[in-house]
This record gives sequence, structure tokens and C-alpha cells, in this order.
Amino acid sequence: KISKADDILQKMLSEKRLKSVEDKRVGSEVFDRITLKTLYKLANEGYIHRLNGAISTGKEANVFTGIDKNDNFVAVKIYRVTTSDFKKMQTYIQGDPRFRVRTTNKRQLINAWVNKEFRNLQRADDAGVKVPKPIVAKNNILVMEYIGDEEGDAALPMRHSTIKSPEELLNKVINNMKLLYKKAGLVHGDLSSYNILIQDNEPVIIDISQGMTKDHPIAEELLNRDIENIAKDFKKLGVKISAEEIKSEIIDL
Ligand code: ADP
Ligand code: MN
Repeated sequence: KISKADDILQKMLSEKRLKSVEDKRVGSEVFDRITLKTLYKLANEGYIHRLNGAISTGKEANVFTGIDKNDNFVAVKIYRVTTSDFKKMQTYIQGDPRFRVRTTNKRQLINAWVNKEFRNLQRADDAGVKVPKPIVAKNNILVMEYIGDEEGDAALPMRHSTIKSPEELLNKVINNMKLLYKKAGLVHGDLSSYNILIQDNEPVIIDISQGMTKDHPIAEELLNRDIENIAKDFKKLGVKISAEEIKSEIIDL
């Protein structure tokens, strides 16, 4: 039975569940005791056999490439308890009838947040929106479908991709937004070219933790912001489109 964070880390390294000693630096910086325990649990349950390199080190979360027990790539998003934006989490969780959490407990709030991302992904996927399929959420860790190629290179965000046919891509993005809004009944709330990955010329919408049901008091405002971001990002690529045009396509299915 192991308990101390260092022991768990050591054990994961010796079992090659964390890729290398190099990751130990990332590890000790990122992983607090509960995160390591959670990781270890997920490892024992077969969701993550190994954790490879980091794809992204964001403000609130780190995303890693993992390998599950069947040798498939998975994406592992680990929220850092220390740097999470609790104000934002509170704002977005309050008013969402799906969540009733004691909003003063940071850990509970993060767990609810991760759970919210999982459920939003599930709901979007059920509606046919192209998103990473969620696999498991436990505490501050979300495991989901890996968006990338067979070599293990993660797909790039639209912002950093070369877009061959922006008009075509925009149509696909609008179609996904429409499905998300009309069929899943969700508003993303942080949609932009940073949160759209490009895999084989197809857009994949990610980072939907703040996503809310469309009856949420601030849903309309966030939908408008999402639409404006998308209009702006595609204008930069030379597409002639206004926010109003996008909105009318999304609303009038
Ligand atoms: P945040 O922006 O809050 O840090 P994101 O969910 O946007 O978190 O993830 C950060 C980055 O990690 C993304 O821009 C993308 O490069 C990568 N990423 C996230 N999810 C996946 C995934 N399922 N497959 C591949 N890469 C991913
Ligand atoms: Mn993001």
C-alpha cells in the first residue's frame, strides 16, 4: 500500500507509467498528492497505462498524451488545484440546474467542473457534434479520446494550423455549433480558433468545461460572444462572413 506522493510518483516511474525522469519535474510541479493518487487509480483501472509527454500547459490545466491498457492513445487533462480560476467556475456552475455544489470548497468545485466538462462532451457527442469522446472523469482528471495522428502527434488548434479551405471549414464549424445549440442544447462559452482542433481537415471542438445549457441566464450572451469570435477568426482567413449571418444559421435550423 502506497500513500505518500513521492512514493506514488516513484512507483509510477519505476513501473514506467510516467514516461521518464524528465517528466518527474513536470510531475512534481503539477501533481499534488490527490492528483497522483487519482492518476494511480486510473492506471490500475486500465484507463491510463502510461502517461507520455505534455501536449499543453495551460493556465488551469495540463494536457498529456496517455496510453491506455489496450495501447490506444488517450488525452489526459489534469486540472491544477492551485491555479484554477474559482471565480469563473462559480459563475458558470451557479445557475446550471445540473450541478448543486458547495461553492466554497475548491476541490469540490474543481471536481464538479471536470464532471461538467465530461457531461458536456458526452451530451455534445450524443448530438453528433465532433468532440473528443469522454472516457472517464475522476476528481480533477479527465480522460478523453485523443485527437491526433497514429504517431501520437496531437492535432493542432485551428489558430496554429494551415487552413486550406477556410469557407469549407467554416461551414463545418457552423454545422457543429448548430448541433451543439439546437440538438445538445448547449452553449460552448469559450469558442475560438484556440478551442477547435483540426484533424484531417475536420474541426473538433474541445475545452467545453464552461459550456452551459441554453436556458442558463448568461447563455445568450456567451453564444453571441462565441459567434463573434468565430466570425473574427474566419475573417482573418479571408472569409466574408458577419456574426449576424452565423447567428441566423445557428438559430434557424
Ligand atoms: P485549456 O485551454 O483550458 O488549457 P484545453 O482543453 O483547451 O485546455 O486543452 C489545451 C490544449 O491541449 C489544446 O489546445 C490542445 O492542443 C490539447 N488538447 C486538449 N484536448 C485534446 C485532445 N482530446 N486530443 C489532443 N489534444 C488535446
Ligand atoms: Mn483551450
